[in-house]
Amino acid sequence: MSIILTQSMITCPACGFAKNETMPSDACRIIYRCEGCGARLQPAAGDCCVFCTYGSMPCPPIQIERSERTSPEPQPAPALE
Ligand SMILES: [Zn+2]
Repeated sequence: MSIILTQSMITCPACGFAKNETMPSDACRIIYRCEGCGARLQPAAGDCCVFCTYGSMPCPPIQIERSERTSPEPQPAPALE
């Protein structure tokens, strides 16, 4: 079973300001501007978007990938493309 969460709490590494953001399900967000201090956050090396690096939840494509990888039984893949 795969429940895709689209809410992620992004925490700014510079000032600690955290905000709940809604993630687009079909795109990765690679630039995020902190509303606390104005810092421009970018994903760490190896991460596809700022939600994977700074968010409480990784972005939807990664959630799907992880749930498929850990799932013991094959599931029909969600139509992503
Ligand atoms: Zn900040």
